[in-house]
Parts: sequence; structure tokens; C-alpha cells
Amino acid sequence: MQGKVEVFDLTAPLSTNTPVIRLPPDRGQPWPFKLEKISRYDEKGNEVYWNNIQMSEHTGTHFDAPVHWFSGKDSIDVSSVPCKHLIAPAVVVDMSEQVTDPNFLLERKHVEQWCEIHGTLPEGAWLLFRSGWDSHDLDADSFLNHGYTPGVSESCAKWLAEQTPIIGIGVETVGTDAGQAGKFEQPYPVHWYFHKAAKYGLTQLKNLAKLPATGVVIIVAPLPIVGGSGSPCRVLALIE
Ligand code: MN
Repeated sequence: MQGKVEVFDLTAPLSTNTPVIRLPPDRGQPWPFKLEKISRYDEKGNEVYWNNIQMSEHTGTHFDAPVHWFSGKDSIDVSSVPCKHLIAPAVVVDMSEQVTDPNFLLERKHVEQWCEIHGTLPEGAWLLFRSGWDSHDLDADSFLNHGYTPGVSESCAKWLAEQTPIIGIGVETVGTDAGQAGKFEQPYPVHWYFHKAAKYGLTQLKNLAKLPATGVVIIVAPLPIVGGSGSPCRVLALIE
């Protein structure tokens, strides 16, 4: 196997610059990432460098568990996700050429066109939706774009969640839903339908451009926060 598997890191670095979703001011807000020094070879600890960190379960590249949403409230929390779901095949639906408008929505027809070329969506796989939005990630304001970011249509989210054998969806944006999805008839349809179906979400992925459409395995490693709704995670892609 030596030299035959390439590994790509799909994770956004965590720093105080990491963009975090901004909700309407009347809602609770997730914490941005914060690092606080405990000691660095100094009077607080001559021989040791370490930090405390503060963030939300939903800061940076992170995993959404089914209990994250009301529709999945009776399903599993992040610590209960079966390990076999954390190493799984992935397919990449690359719409980056088509995303010329920040309000672009992935539709069922786009996925069906993908399937005509690459075959059916594999059982137990992640669908990674490449929008090209990771190119905005050097600037938080541009990345968040005042809430105008690409996502998935209501009908497509419902279809993917209920009718296809994927286990979850991964996106490049700050959340799995479109920036304007709070205004949809079914608000936040990816969250609603996926978590209702006990499926997962992954956000703020990078380097999807380096992956082929099929033949990818991803390792998704959220922290097993007991009772947690999600967790920042490392996401690695393996390609033979
Ligand atoms: Mn989330």
C-alpha cells in the first residue's frame, strides 16, 4: 500500500479568524474560536506550552449530528454516531462552474445529471457538494457574505434525505443550508430533512477541488461530546 494512497486535508484551520455562522440577533449565537494561553515556558509553567480553547460545537469545519435539529431530536447525539459512519466513501458533486450567483441552489436535476455520468449514489456515502465557496475563506466577511451563500433547494434536500442511500452531506459554506434558507417554506431544509432521516452534515470543507468525483474515502473525526449536537472535526480524504 505504501505510496499508493494520497491523503488530503479537507479541514479549515481553526483560529480567531475562522468564520462562524451569524444568526439574527434575537437568536443564540455560537462562539467563535478563542485560544487562551495557560503557559509558554514562563512563570506559569517553565517547561510547558499549552492553551485553553473556547468554541462552539458548530465552529469551523464541523459535524452536525441528527439531534442538532428538532426534526431529529429523538435520534442520536454526536457521541453515539457509529464509528463505521466516520470512515465512509464520498462522492463529489462539483457545481463550482455553475455557481455564478451566491444564491445558487443545488437541485435534484443536478445530482441526477451527475449520476448519469458517474453512476448511482453509493450506499452509505457522503455527498460532498462543491460550490467553489472555499475560495472566499481568507476573509470572514466575504465567506459569510451577509448571509448570501449557496446551498441546496428544499425539494433536493428532501429527496437526498428520504430517497437516496447517502449518510450525509458535506459543504464548503459555514452551514449545510443555503445562507437564505431561513426564509424557505421549509426553513433550513437540509437540517430539517437530513436530521429527521438520522443523517449527518459537514461544513466548511476545503480542497474538494483536489478530489475526483468518485473513489474517495473520507475520515470524519468529531469529538465524542456526550449528548452533543455536533463537534468541530478533522476531515481527511483518502484516494487510491
Ligand atoms: Mn452546524
